[in-house]
Amino acid sequence: MTGTPASESVLDGTAWTDHRLDRLTARIGAPTTSATGRIPVAAPTADEQIGSVPELTPADVETAVTRTRSAVAAWRATSVTDRSAVIERFANLVADNQKELLDLVQLETGKSRIDAFEEVIEVPQSADYYAGTARSVLSSESRGSGLPVLTATELQYDPVGIVGVISPWNYPLVLSFTDLIPALLAGNGVVLKPDEKTPFTAIRLAELLFEAGLPEGVLTVVTGDGPTVGGTLIDTVDYITFTGSSETGRTVAERAGRNLIDCSLELSGKNPFIVLDDADLDMAVRGAINGAFTNAGQLCLATERIYVERPRYEDFLDAFVAATTEIELGAPFEYTTDVGSLIGRDQLARVESHVTDAVESGATVQSGAQARPDIGPYFYEPTILTDVPSDSLPACEETFGPVVTVEPVQSGESAVETANSSAYGLNGSVWSTDSRRAKSIARRLDCGTVCINDSHFAGWAAYDAPMGGVGQSGIGRRHGPEGLLRYTEPKTVATSRVGPLGSVPGVPDSLYTRVVTTLTNAQRRLRQWWR
Ligand code: NAD
Repeated sequence: MTGTPASESVLDGTAWTDHRLDRLTARIGAPTTSATGRIPVAAPTADEQIGSVPELTPADVETAVTRTRSAVAAWRATSVTDRSAVIERFANLVADNQKELLDLVQLETGKSRIDAFEEVIEVPQSADYYAGTARSVLSSESRGSGLPVLTATELQYDPVGIVGVISPWNYPLVLSFTDLIPALLAGNGVVLKPDEKTPFTAIRLAELLFEAGLPEGVLTVVTGDGPTVGGTLIDTVDYITFTGSSETGRTVAERAGRNLIDCSLELSGKNPFIVLDDADLDMAVRGAINGAFTNAGQLCLATERIYVERPRYEDFLDAFVAATTEIELGAPFEYTTDVGSLIGRDQLARVESHVTDAVESGATVQSGAQARPDIGPYFYEPTILTDVPSDSLPACEETFGPVVTVEPVQSGESAVETANSSAYGLNGSVWSTDSRRAKSIARRLDCGTVCINDSHFAGWAAYDAPMGGVGQSGIGRRHGPEGLLRYTEPKTVATSRVGPLGSVPGVPDSLYTRVVTTLTNAQRRLRQWWR
């Protein structure tokens, strides 16, 4: 395994300068009157400061939400078609600015160019999906009336008001905008809190949204410490969308519950990958490389546990280890490496502690298991572990790094049982040339998404289908109509065609109740016969 050392200054080779980053921060639109502190933002590939953002106070966040609230009435009054046109223009602007966005994503996350590409290419696609589907999903619809002929019922989708979006550092573009765009399309205002390690990409995309025609104030970006800024946000908005760890997710849910606001939580994963004995092994190995090492494993959908049916175990493991040693580490601003840096010191410590715990409990290192300070301070080699005890850290907790365990299983049945033994349930993957068998395994996996003959891309790219987690992996769904409708308050408008319903003046109640009983009995029997 080779590597490309970091350049002398991480700003070398990008279109970004610290001056330009400072200018970007000045335009985020958050009121910063009481903010005196700044949070430094570092590039992980060299641990070099590239800029800073305001450390907002709770009072600043309250002001930001109030400002967004006062701007949203006009946005809510625009038609969905007009809102969609803004989002379509935004999608095109993101695509037109691909190169500078790639640089910026790499700069603040330390990803390889190819991993940054997967992020930058996604935003226009998902934005365009939502823009294309919003009108039909959000238009009012008529619903069955309890009293046919006498009443008519219509369902309208009102915006919830102000949506707070709290996003993580691992996919700072996608995980802010995939959730924010549908909120805007539904007529809401949005206050976005990006992770303090990766604020610049989110700020740059906000700028592109305004360039696309989003009115000032409808979106505000607030920067600062998670518990302070995120916590105040939950106290002041009408809906919260959170993507991050299950641990923080629990705190967010508790606080949202106290405020009686709804929330969606996209949380951690410990994703299983099942190779059945009839799988195409070349394909499965390629899939395992993608699944385990994309974004240096810092991906909620990443493969962390591989189960292989016994007859193919040795062959799979040999081929997987061989392919892993070919992986090129580094994060230059060009497509010459495969896997980039971890985000920082804490993440490196977490990965190292998981590997150490496994090895000390008897696991075998098949590949990697070493930091690579020669390439950059937080690079870590893609690591394959076998014979991992079931109570060791990488067997039961999310590692969120380039570490994967491989284990033989006696049958597809025992693979399902072991896969489902986790508290998490985000993304599963099944490999087989028999689609009926693969689907039968997929049906029995306790995961929000299962990909067959792919690790995770197929599920993520299915924008029309809901995506989310079960168990400790979350509540609610993004993507699909569900991803839009979560930002609405369904409102029922029921109209009586005959004036006030109830007992009829001049008709004795004994007669009225007899007639109503006869009619409702007939109606119910007719409905049951018709079904
Ligand atoms: P994190 O939970 O530490 O932080 C996420 C966000 O929450 C950040 O913006 C942070 O500032 C903010 N935050 C922190 N404490 C807060 C609090 N008390 N109240 C409100 N906000 C608070 O997670 P992370 O380390 O940034 O991200 C990695 C985790 O996210 C992993 O566990 C990963 O699996 C998960 N993740 C899930 C998905 C998904 O779609 N399911 C996607 C990406 C990442």
